[in-house]
Amino acid sequence: MPDIRIRRELLETLFALGKSQHPNEFLAILKIRNGIIEELELAPGTISGETSASFDTYMMPLDTSTAGSAHSHPSGAVRPSDADLRFFPKIGRYHIIIGAPYNDDTWRCFHANGEPFVMEVV
Ligand SMILES: [Zn+2]
Repeated sequence: MPDIRIRRELLETLFALGKSQHPNEFLAILKIRNGIIEELELAPGTISGETSASFDTYMMPLDTSTAGSAHSHPSGAVRPSDADLRFFPKIGRYHIIIGAPYNDDTWRCFHANGEPFVMEVV
């Protein structure tokens, strides 16, 4: 498994998205370049009051720059739900969950199987 890193600026953007959508969830697709996650695409139509279960039906063209996903948990629980674990493998290998109140202490990374891992911030 190669090392995976994320730009500080992108992480801050994810925190800001979480805050701006609270108490609703957001879902973003993470784009990777040269081993660093540095861009996102907001998933259309996924910003809503729905729970993660709605992500099951989410469809977007994915390509080799797609690293995985990031989404918020307004409840503050920073662990994948059953719906998340069904959704993760469809989108990529690396998944970030950001819990309220959306800061450095409330985000974690997971592999598609739900195993937590540490993502380096650069
Ligand atoms: Zn979730």
